[in-house]
Amino acid sequence: KGKRAFIAGVADDNGYGWAIAKSLAAAGAEILLGTWVPALNIFETSLRRGKFDESRVLPDGSLMEITKVYPLDAVFDTPEDVPEDIKANKRYAGSSNWTIKEVAACVKQDFGSIDILVHSLANGPEVTKPLLETSRKGYLAAISASSYSYVSLLKHFLPIVNPGGSSISLTYIASERIIPGYGGGMSSAKAALESDTKVLAFEAGRKHKVRVNTISAGPLRSRAAKAIGFIDMMIDYSLENAPFQKELSADEVGNTAAFLASPLASAITGAVIYVDNGLNAMGVGV
Ligand code: NAD
Repeated sequence: KGKRAFIAGVADDNGYGWAIAKSLAAAGAEILLGTWVPALNIFETSLRRGKFDESRVLPDGSLMEITKVYPLDAVFDTPEDVPEDIKANKRYAGSSNWTIKEVAACVKQDFGSIDILVHSLANGPEVTKPLLETSRKGYLAAISASSYSYVSLLKHFLPIVNPGGSSISLTYIASERIIPGYGGGMSSAKAALESDTKVLAFEAGRKHKVRVNTISAGPLRSRAAKAIGFIDMMIDYSLENAPFQKELSADEVGNTAAFLASPLASAITGAVIYVDNGLNAMGVGV
């Protein structure tokens, strides 16, 4: 029987979430997406108009099918958490049921269960500021959108993830090594995400027989990464210094996610898997 995946954090065809969706679809999974509410309209319009058709092509020549796109804002857990200004916002008022709890309930109602949960989203409003210049508000916003969003997503979806299922998030080495420029508390948020991966692996493993892993990905020119402002430099740095001197393709991260979601990875849980051409292993630049 084919597996069903819910991938949170896809709003175009340039990021890791899209590539993960493609790899899972190529392996036979049914694809459900969670798309940030303010980006939903343009994403669905572009999908409908065929703007992504070229990047929907799978290795066998067929096009990836997306069964359903759910609006999602992962900084809100329940409708009671949504402040008035967001409720009144034009871009939000057109959609409904986009808090994490509601999305999980909608997926349950529509499909009953899933097998694979992917968290491919992050946001840090002060990411361009050094940590020493980051406000409390900015720091907490980064943690809320990039770390707690995963705890909450897993918490609300776990009851509908089939035993033997798998959950994956995306992290970055700035959690454990100094990467100047990855600021605003984003490095802290990734450190929390990686630590939580271990604790959540224990809890979800014991309670639901679900595996929890995170992929530490190398630099990719996604929309989110371009907003940070130093992505080209990071790509060049990797090209110069990594054991494998090639540009990292999003598909390589997608394929790792497909492996982690498959029975081939049945004993892997609580792990940080590096998909970065080996850059993490270097001690000095050469
Ligand atoms: P991306 O822009 O494709 O994905 C980020 C997504 O998060 C976007 O679709 C955005 O709409 C969504 N998002 C932001 N706030 C949200 C919210 N509150 N609720 C729901 N969705 C929200 O960029 P990406 O680089 O592919 O990012 C995916 C993941 O990969 C992130 O966790 C990122 O930190 C991680 N990552 C990226 C790189 C890189 O170089 N691009 C490297 C390592 C890890």
